[in-house]
Amino acid sequence: MANNDELFKKIVAHAKEYGFIFPSSEIYDGLSAVYDYGQLGVELKNNIKQYWWKSMVQLHENIVGIDSAIFMHPTIWKASGHVDAFNDPLIDNKDSKKRYRADVLIEDYIQKIEDKIGKEVEKASKRFENFDEAMYRQTNARVLEYQAKIDEVRSRFVQAMNDNNLPAIKTLIEDLGIVCPVSGTRNWTDVRQFNLMFSTQMGSTAEGTDTIYLRPETAQGIFVNFLNVQKSGRMKIPFGIAQIGKAFRNEIIARQFIFRMREFEQMEMQFFVRPGEELKWFEYWKAERMKWHQSLGISAQKYRYHDHEKLAHYANAATDIEYDFPFGFKELEGIHSRTDFDLTAHQNYSGRKMQYYDPEQGESYVPYVVETSVGLDRTLLAIISDAYQEEKLEDGSIRVVMNLPAFLAPYKVAVLPLVKKDGMPEKARQILSDLQEDYNCQYDEKDAIGRRYRRQDAIGTPYCITVDNQTMEDNTVTIRIRTTMQQERISLDNVSKRIAELLKESRIVK
Ligand code: ATP
Repeated sequence: MANNDELFKKIVAHAKEYGFIFPSSEIYDGLSAVYDYGQLGVELKNNIKQYWWKSMVQLHENIVGIDSAIFMHPTIWKASGHVDAFNDPLIDNKDSKKRYRADVLIEDYIQKIEDKIGKEVEKASKRFENFDEAMYRQTNARVLEYQAKIDEVRSRFVQAMNDNNLPAIKTLIEDLGIVCPVSGTRNWTDVRQFNLMFSTQMGSTAEGTDTIYLRPETAQGIFVNFLNVQKSGRMKIPFGIAQIGKAFRNEIIARQFIFRMREFEQMEMQFFVRPGEELKWFEYWKAERMKWHQSLGISAQKYRYHDHEKLAHYANAATDIEYDFPFGFKELEGIHSRTDFDLTAHQNYSGRKMQYYDPEQGESYVPYVVETSVGLDRTLLAIISDAYQEEKLEDGSIRVVMNLPAFLAPYKVAVLPLVKKDGMPEKARQILSDLQEDYNCQYDEKDAIGRRYRRQDAIGTPYCITVDNQTMEDNTVTIRIRTTMQQERISLDNVSKRIAELLKESRIVK
């Protein structure tokens, strides 16, 4: 764990040093849980968006995209349940004045017991040959005791949450003797519900203003446009509507860099299906979305599903795709079978019919919906966490390299004249201007060539083209491949074609 903490710190520092991600408003000491994407971060983010859009929208005949406004009619959030139920329970420690999510304090407590079980299992596995872990977990007295404690805490917690019984949550925290990690005391305030939506005023006069919300998810913009898109696009069920956009949540505690932010981006797709067919489509999208993540070149072991036992009020099936971040497995994407909850709610609140006439069945109905909702920032964090590597080279030196999938890398090619004379810069700039039409390229003539290669390694540029003395004689250049550091010499006429080939090869599903 300590190593992973160290690694995570390095990734955050690297992201800043090379212009991927900066803390927001840094010269004013930052704004908590808000980040800015720098010159490289924005390129990487755009490439991820394009890749998602291509695979979800453009490669599906029956999925189209929209871009709805962030501001929406306030009643939408009443209908969706966000005004009444988009809450987290919060608690303050009176001594440290620090604020916590009560549910997270309890989850952390449970995690500690789980870690203890993990240690027991690990110890036993070393002690016994042919160790049967499942059997050990079912029979070892100490493990059973720990597990009973976990079950008891969970059941009291779930009961209290279901009953919205905030005093019972406080009592649980007190009974468990949970202390504030900062002050070390148990001097807690009462637990309160805290709505995560940001609100603001719309309108220019005090009397005529309306409270509106910054959307906490992009999905509702899709639901309220469902009939507009269906009719104008003559869409037939099953079909999907996708959207990429900003969402805002006033998260109580924001931790772990861009994992939990107050302003972030989602890539969502709502798939409208016949009632009764939703679970079939849920399974379909569950598998498809896992394939998508693995197509980023990240190994399958880094992902897992987490099926929900306790379902949200709108869902009849739900799973998360989790990624093994440096701080552990955490949610990256949610896939939910949302039933007809949202469309029916909008029908009731707006008084407009939200129905689809199914020509094959000869009847009208409110479609059911399967949602895939992935955080763009969390996807980017998964990609850079996977890509960041420190390699020990033969000469003993360390190479920091971002092994980004080539098709997502901010720059595809760097063009480098070996020296700043003998016509090499001019030649290199000529190559650059030819390649720029098709690829995002960088030109660099400063410092020794080895240092320039390292700079490109550090930002993940997959291919470096070097103009040297031989280029001036026979119009050939070298292409250096980031991952292997190998070089090949090819004729200038073939450069663009070769890069296209290499980029295509880089899209391998692992
Ligand atoms: P969590 O349990 O981590 O708060 P959630 O279950 O509330 O997430 P959803 O409402 O399902 O998340 O949102 C879909 C996706 O949006 C998440 O899987 C995640 O990738 C992303 N997301 C949600 N909240 C944030 C946030 N505060 N910062 C960055 N990404 C987020």
